[in-house]
Amino acid sequence: MSYFQNSIDFIREKFASNEFIPLHAPVFSGNEKKYVLDTLDSTFVSSVGAYVDQAEQVMAQISQTQKAVAVVNGTSGLQIALQLAGVQRGDEVITQALTFVATANAIHYTGAEPIFIDVDLDTMGLSPKAVEEFLQEFGEKRENGTYNKKTGKRIAACVPMHTFGFPVHLEALLRVCEEWNIPIVEDAAESLGSYYKGKHTGSFGKLGVFSFNGNKIVTCGGGGMIVTQDEELGQLGKHLTTTAKVPHPYEYVHDQVGYNFRMPNLNAALICAQLEQLEMFLANKRALAIEYATFFEGQGMKFRKELEHTKANYWLMCIELENSKERNAFLKLSNENKVMTRPIWQLMYRLSMYQHCYRDAQKNAEYLEERIVNIPSSVRG
Ligand SMILES: *Cc1c(COP(=O)(O)O)cnc(C)c1O
Repeated sequence: MSYFQNSIDFIREKFASNEFIPLHAPVFSGNEKKYVLDTLDSTFVSSVGAYVDQAEQVMAQISQTQKAVAVVNGTSGLQIALQLAGVQRGDEVITQALTFVATANAIHYTGAEPIFIDVDLDTMGLSPKAVEEFLQEFGEKRENGTYNKKTGKRIAACVPMHTFGFPVHLEALLRVCEEWNIPIVEDAAESLGSYYKGKHTGSFGKLGVFSFNGNKIVTCGGGGMIVTQDEELGQLGKHLTTTAKVPHPYEYVHDQVGYNFRMPNLNAALICAQLEQLEMFLANKRALAIEYATFFEGQGMKFRKELEHTKANYWLMCIELENSKERNAFLKLSNENKVMTRPIWQLMYRLSMYQHCYRDAQKNAEYLEERIVNIPSSVRG
């Protein structure tokens, strides 16, 4: 199929490289070295330091939220955000099966169980309509929240994930969740720099969580950030993720079982330098997305673009092949030619540990699972 080879040649040309082209590689072109050396010189590499405070302030500003809490990674951030939203052992949490495993794992860590609801074809994220249909069939409103009529368990939260940085239909989802009195925790791990109707993703739910893992749009090796509009909840998040220690000049007093999920100052230094370049990274990726869109459309292939009322960060760009046979052929040819491409994740209920969880029909998730392929999306030099 000549358009496959054309695509591979085009990607190679865009990255001006004959070497292996990864899906996403970090770029350290700013103050990274300076800030990291600064932490070494000051000896403040660990749990206390000015870069942690700075990273939190900058992230609250970028995400248009009141309070940001730096954590050791996005997964731990999600776990704590769920707890802050009120999720307890024995609860159920609505989410999508089309996601990275961390979403489901974080739910599991709280002692709750995921309920997998279908995604929308246009956003690839949690479908408000499918959530509503589920709640109409299974939901029962009680004084302290919504319960699942079939299992008797409380449905304690809803976790949409903004797949590859494309925002879900937030307004509709907020409407459904408000009606059923279910708090939203946004898994915004992939969507730093993505907006829905001018507002940053992660700022819509009760809490939102970003990731700074090595493959994300900005990275500090490992790290994450919990954000919220609720100042008090944010303070509690800081407390919980820093061993729940009560401030005291020298005594060790802890008022609950907390977590050591804080972000070291060393990593915070790195993320501060990365965040200074976020706008540049976003512009660079947008330029690539425009070039990809023009090319793939010219080949009669489908390149995923942001929806009209949204701004995507184009974290991982993707194309949609005709069927799984075409997809497999494209994956094989591109990877053999040292252009890294990857199918979308296996749906969560295909994994042994989540096989037993409830799921709805998953028509759209399975459609996308067979067709979506990620293509090289790094910021270009
Ligand atoms: C990256 C990612 C996470 C977790 O982030 P880590 O920082 O790697 O723990 C969670 N959810 C999704 C959808 C992700 O892509």
